Amino acid sequence: MDISLSQEHLNFQTKVREFLNDNLTPDIREAGRLCATIMAEHEATWKWHRILHSQGWAAPNWPTEYGGPGWDPVQRYLYSAEYARTGAPHLTPLGLSMVGPAIMGHGSAEQKAFYLPRILSGDDVWCQGYSEPGAGSDLASLQCRAISDGDDYIINGSKTWTTDAHNANRMFCLVRTNTDGKPQAGITFLLLEMDTPGIAVEPIHILGGDHEFNQVFFDDVRVPQSGRIGAENDGWTVAKYLLEFERGVAVGVGPLRTRLNEIRALAQARRDSDGNALMAQLDFARAFAALDIELTTVEYTGHRTMADIVKRGSPGPASSMMKTRATEVQMAISELAMQAIANYAAPHQPEERLAGANLPPLGSRDEMSVTARYLNDRASAIYGGSNEIQRNIMAKLVLGM
Ligand SMILES: Cc1cc2nc3c(=O)[nH]c(=O)nc-3n(C[C@H](O)[C@H](O)[C@H](O)COP(=O)(O)OP(=O)(O)OC[C@H]3O[C@@H](n4cnc5c(N)ncnc54)[C@H](O)[C@@H]3O)c2cc1C
Repeated sequence: MDISLSQEHLNFQTKVREFLNDNLTPDIREAGRLCATIMAEHEATWKWHRILHSQGWAAPNWPTEYGGPGWDPVQRYLYSAEYARTGAPHLTPLGLSMVGPAIMGHGSAEQKAFYLPRILSGDDVWCQGYSEPGAGSDLASLQCRAISDGDDYIINGSKTWTTDAHNANRMFCLVRTNTDGKPQAGITFLLLEMDTPGIAVEPIHILGGDHEFNQVFFDDVRVPQSGRIGAENDGWTVAKYLLEFERGVAVGVGPLRTRLNEIRALAQARRDSDGNALMAQLDFARAFAALDIELTTVEYTGHRTMADIVKRGSPGPASSMMKTRATEVQMAISELAMQAIANYAAPHQPEERLAGANLPPLGSRDEMSVTARYLNDRASAIYGGSNEIQRNIMAKLVLGM
């Protein structure tokens, strides 16, 4: 078996490496390095999005007809590996990896023509209005009400844990349009503009100190029905399709390898009073090696999920496996990082990670995001559907139990 790269792929790899090195400005690199949540600092992330778009690389997984670069699976793999190696901030997944594929799969020709180019160029920033105060895992019990009125819906209710709603100009959401029969059969998938009168966004601050999500309130909000994806009361079909992408693609495996490499560097630099590196201590080295192996298995699962997308157009229920394992490894990595920095894990200094912060951090700059990441990574077992729910899905749809 020959697993070496062809000359064409080697040339491609060099081109990607050079482009990333030449175009990642210091502020964008810094935003990626300091990111302790799902999203890096807003300005730098969207600046990077526009740079990649001008190169035609904002959406490596999109079909060419919608502006994807037309790469084969090996090129996509090489790109994501090179990208992760640089530590560049992730592009926001809500448009590119979530509502974009949903519009491709279920939108009308007019909706595709309007929304997809704007997602690709970074003109629109999206947020996801699924969860409600009384509807998370049991999403079908959602109550946010949309009543048909002429060409519009009038929405009343609330959405919560809405990531990036304070930056977004558009939301894709699930609303209740029918209260009879099965709860799943009365839900509609709707796109709306965040500056519509009657929408209020209230911040929720997370454990690590960041403001990443919000509660959104709707008070007689009038939204055109032209923003509906699919048929009225058939939003569950679109929502389930989108969730497969959220679990399968929105989980970034590449950055986990970068983070493990960072731990290796930290543990090589940290010495005890005899000058021995932490990395040379048996217990730590063993824990590191075990995690390295775990991560390698997740990387292969990621390749399989990607191959399913190429073959079938969507990742299918195996994306639940990917989501669960990747987030478990992610949490284990952030725990090991805490061990590696030892007493420097104690000072929690979220303000040091804000753009423009000019106070010297306690500990080294490499250690600054470790505690916030550890705290925020606990959320990875919850968002995108909790890991318990993913196990239920695997039991039913993958194992047939
Ligand atoms: C950082 C972050 C960002 C998020 N961003 C968004 C967003 O942008 N948009 C959005 O709509 N939502 C978002 N969410 C919400 C997320 O999808 C929900 O938190 C999640 O679906 C769980 O719902 P819940 O919080 O209501 O918990 P609950 O559903 O109340 O669950 C509580 C606990 O019970 C367990 N549980 C519940 N039902 C079962 C069951 N049947 N079997 C076994 N265990 C069960 C759960 O696993 C969990 O441990 C985000 C969440 C986080 C943490």
